[in-house]
Amino acid sequence: MNIQTLDVLIVDLPTIRPHQLAMHTIVMQTIILVRVTGEGGLEGWGEVATIGGASYCAETPEAIKMNIEKYIKPLVIGRNAAHFDSISHTVNKHVVGNTFAKASVEAAIVELAAKARGIPVHELFGGQIHASLPVAWTLASGDTRRDIEEAKESLHAKGHNIFKLKIGMGEPKRNVAHVLKIKEAVGDEASVRVDVNQAWDETTAMYCIEALEDGGIDLIEQPLPAWNKEGMARLTTRFKVPIMADESLSSLEEVYQVAKYRAGNVFSIKPANVGGLTATKKVAAIAEAAGISLYGGTMIESSLGTAISSHLYSTIPEMKYGTELFGPLLFTDTVTANAISYEDFRLKVPSGPGYGMEMDVEKIFHYAREY
Ligand SMILES: [Mg+2]
Repeated sequence: MNIQTLDVLIVDLPTIRPHQLAMHTIVMQTIILVRVTGEGGLEGWGEVATIGGASYCAETPEAIKMNIEKYIKPLVIGRNAAHFDSISHTVNKHVVGNTFAKASVEAAIVELAAKARGIPVHELFGGQIHASLPVAWTLASGDTRRDIEEAKESLHAKGHNIFKLKIGMGEPKRNVAHVLKIKEAVGDEASVRVDVNQAWDETTAMYCIEALEDGGIDLIEQPLPAWNKEGMARLTTRFKVPIMADESLSSLEEVYQVAKYRAGNVFSIKPANVGGLTATKKVAAIAEAAGISLYGGTMIESSLGTAISSHLYSTIPEMKYGTELFGPLLFTDTVTANAISYEDFRLKVPSGPGYGMEMDVEKIFHYAREY
C-alpha cells in the first residue's frame, strides 16, 4: 500500500504528579504523533516522546516535527509501506542522526503495512513470544514517605513489583539513603532499581554503587555519562550488581562497542534511541550474541507509543529485566479511545490490527499545539 500523506503533530499531555528526573521535572509531557495514510484513507500512526525539551537529548519536539516535514517526508511519500525497512535504508542514506524523528515515521509506516494486511504489528516482526510483559513503576515524587506509600499501594493493588528510582538530581549520598529506606520498606516483595541518568563521576559511582549493592538494589542504570564507556566497563567488572547501559546506546555502532567492551551487562532498549523498531530488533540481536540481558525502556510515551514498543518487545525472547512501559499511567488523559490494560504486575500487549489502538482524533487536536 502506497503512502499518500504524512503529517506530524506536537501534543502536550498533563501528568498526574510532577515526575522528577535528573535533567528535568515533568509536569507536562510532550509527544510527537505521525500519521500516514494510504489508499482508501487507511491510517498508520507513530509516536515518540521527548523529555524536557532539549534537556534529555539533542532532538527537540520542534526539531523532530520540522526535520520530518522538510527532510524525511519527501523520501517516504509514494513508497510502499510494506517496504518499511527499505524506506528506512533510504532515509538513513539522506538523513544522519535524528533517531527520534526516524522512529516516529517508521512506526507509522509499519502500522500502515500491518493494517493493510489486517494483522497486528508483532506479526511483521516474526510473531509474539510474550503476550504480556512485566512493568516497572518509577517512584519519582522526590519525597521518601510519599514514594514508600506509592510503592506499598502499588504492591497491594498488584500494579507493580519492580520500582525504579531516578537519583541523578541532588546530593548522591542523600539519594542513596532515600533509595535504601524504600528498599527496606518493601523488602523482598519488590525489586528496587536506580537510574542515575549519567549524573555521577566514576569516584562518586564507586562509593554509591557499593552502598546500593550492599542494600539489595538489583540494577544500576547509566551511572556515568554516555561518553564514559571505559568507566562503565570498569564498574561492570568491579560490582556484582548489574550495570545497565541506556543513554550510551544511541546508535547500532555504539551498541556494538558497548557490547564488545562490556560497558554494561544489561541493555535498556528504546526504539527512539536507535531510529525505530527494525533497528531495535537489531540491538536485541547484538545483545543476544554478546550474552547481554535486556530491559524494555521508555521515553514516557502515551498509550500509542507504549503499544508500539510493546509489540516489538513481545517478539524478543530475552526480556529478563521486564519493561518500564508505564507511560499511560502517568498521564491524566490519553490520545486513544481504548486503553492499555495493566493487571497482575504486567502489561497486556494490545491485539491488532496494527498496534491495536484506536486513535481519538478529537482528543489529539484538543492537546495538539497550533503550529
Ligand atoms: Mg534511563
